[in-house]
Amino acid sequence: MIYFDNSATTKPLDEVAKLVSEDLQNDELWGNPGSLHELGTSAYKAYIKAKEDIASCFSIREQELVFTSCATESANTAINGFLKRNKRNGRTIISTKTEHRATLSVLEKLSDEGFNVIYLNVGPDGKPDLEQLASVIDGDTSLLCFTHVNNETGAILPLKEIIEIKNSKNRNTAIYIDFVQSAGKLKIDLRELGIELASFSAHKFHGLKGSGLLYIKNGIRIDPFILGGGQQNGMRSGTESLYLSRSTALALKLSQTDIDEHLKIVSEINSYLRSELVKRKATILSPEDALPYVLNVSFEGFESETMLHCLERYNIYVSTISACSSKTKKISYVLEAMGVDRKLATNAVRLSFSRFNTMDEAKIFIEKIDEIYQLFALR
Ligand code: PLP
Repeated sequence: MIYFDNSATTKPLDEVAKLVSEDLQNDELWGNPGSLHELGTSAYKAYIKAKEDIASCFSIREQELVFTSCATESANTAINGFLKRNKRNGRTIISTKTEHRATLSVLEKLSDEGFNVIYLNVGPDGKPDLEQLASVIDGDTSLLCFTHVNNETGAILPLKEIIEIKNSKNRNTAIYIDFVQSAGKLKIDLRELGIELASFSAHKFHGLKGSGLLYIKNGIRIDPFILGGGQQNGMRSGTESLYLSRSTALALKLSQTDIDEHLKIVSEINSYLRSELVKRKATILSPEDALPYVLNVSFEGFESETMLHCLERYNIYVSTISACSSKTKKISYVLEAMGVDRKLATNAVRLSFSRFNTMDEAKIFIEKIDEIYQLFALR
């Protein structure tokens, strides 16, 4: 099998599976971390240690981190919770139309509730228009919401420039960043960035599904999304999961080892595929300077889903972004916002890599593309 769909989800590491299975059988770790007796205390200690390990990967403090069920929950809590709690900060939110649905759905709801949501234009490079940002940000701007690395194209956000613009216009404006597709692939120093809110998802860096992270900078107040027993300083009630916290900490720690070397190898795979694919009636839709872990490509003569199923016959897994219905053909809203030609967007397929993919797999991929084209006599 060749798995080029790592932006959808990644395979949990063997180390993670082993840890969870050992933890599940560990007689000292199954207690409720909130219980005052010894069983609870040993579970709590292990749970907090995992939180500290994760926090240190992002250069933050353990108290600034909240475990959630997924990045979607983190986004909902961060955006909604900040705006509801900080009404005096303003009623304007600035974002783009290329955000993940986890963000866009919350913004749509807030807009219905009377908040003013401004969507910046996005260029063919997938980046928001920074001049427009500088012109619209004002005293009423409460929050900026952006994604560090776009899940469909790999476009990288000019985050430092955005922070500079924000600081020059309104220091009270807070920033929420979705780091789902960059965590484990790029080093992220939240302390240095100084942003207020951030989200992460363990299943995108070879951890388990059902484990998300929310960063809330010290001193920032937000309304919690889930109320109850007051766990996690009241920010996310519900009995803490030792298994999820420890497996997430391990997956994140292992992703940091040789992170630059992995980026280099994935860059080589990406460059090879780019150069071979353009010789084969394909158009690269990912920007030149995108994160190499994502490669969006449009195959002439094949609608997205057709190509996905052709590749599947060779046990090669990729993703489509355009959804076909019987009457209308919907193209990806991200590509649409970037101004990609409709016909190209209709044939868009996303390849997304992990540090475990190899150049040999990329070569086989190209061989199979040739076979598919020959089969359909298009070359
Ligand atoms: N943000 C981005 C950029 C994503 O790619 C995804 C998942 O694909 C999410 C948020 C949502 O993550 P989760 O599956 O943890 O809810």
